[in-house]
Amino acid sequence: MKAIIKKGPFPGAELIDTQIPQIGPEDVLVKIKVTSICGTDLHIYDWNEWAQNRIKPPIVFGHEFCGEIIETGKKVNNLVKGDFVSAETHIICGKCYQCKHGQGEICSNVRIIGVDIPGCFAEYIAVPASCLWKNDKKLNPEYASVQEPFGNSVHALFADDKAIEGKTIAIFGCGPTGLFATAIAKASGAKEIIVSDVNSYRMKIAKKSGADYSFNPKEVDVVAKVKDLTGGVGVDIVLEMSGNAQAFQSAVKSCRRGGRVTMFGLFNRRIDVDFNDDLIFSGRKLVGITGRKIWSTWEKTAELLKSKKLNINPIITHRFKLEEFEKGMALMQKGECGKVILKP
Ligand SMILES: [Zn+2]
Ligand SMILES: [Zn+2]
Repeated sequence: MKAIIKKGPFPGAELIDTQIPQIGPEDVLVKIKVTSICGTDLHIYDWNEWAQNRIKPPIVFGHEFCGEIIETGKKVNNLVKGDFVSAETHIICGKCYQCKHGQGEICSNVRIIGVDIPGCFAEYIAVPASCLWKNDKKLNPEYASVQEPFGNSVHALFADDKAIEGKTIAIFGCGPTGLFATAIAKASGAKEIIVSDVNSYRMKIAKKSGADYSFNPKEVDVVAKVKDLTGGVGVDIVLEMSGNAQAFQSAVKSCRRGGRVTMFGLFNRRIDVDFNDDLIFSGRKLVGITGRKIWSTWEKTAELLKSKKLNINPIITHRFKLEEFEKGMALMQKGECGKVILKP
């Protein structure tokens, strides 16, 4: 089969011809229909510091996909050949304290598809049946592939399980997860959605996805704009999806007293937090989230993707053949794309 492999500890990746993976008794073999490129894949491709510390090449990478089951292991009894599936990319242990208490998304022993085990930038993938989500057969395969990052956005937005109808929202960072969060907030009845990014290409997509206002921090004082739009109060919910230290400072200051700041973007260094003013005296909540709740986020995702109110078409901007992956990586390096789809 065709596959994209990270061959060694250096930038780039290679298209190779390799064996179709073997499955164990608890695994299934999936024929990939659609796969999509994640920021994590770009880190692996670019071979940044995180990748250098985490990835052990050679490995086939990629983790966002959908496809059809073509073979099931002997012990698999919840899925059958022909099922249309996507994967919860976090393979959880099921044994640690969190897993036993319904918090698998923060499993102590998590392994990740395309990071710790071979990924989906290939024609076939072998995965444990326990991490598969069965899709509605009518679901658009491109939507089915992006459910993993879409689920990050769902989890970020509904972090404390409260309804967001009528709430004011600010989103810092308009990468695909920020963009999906914008579309989800719109579909879920948010009162006002304000987005901020330095990338004008992506801010245009945010406007098409439901943002009421978009501000470039290089051009305007974003906190002042947010305060202006909310009668000096600040917004109810802020999503920090950028991983930029300066954006974090603006994110906290844009949140009203008593509001919630969800932290999703990863920072490449330690950052300053003014605990006294930004948290203690202002009663704000800072919530760190990772992954998706298993499986409630997926249920919510399925419900949203069925809803006529949601429109993520402006966010899926490019489609390439698997062998053209370098074109997709180049677009992502420039930030001139939303979600990039690859088709084996
Ligand atoms: Zn991803
Ligand atoms: Zn666990």
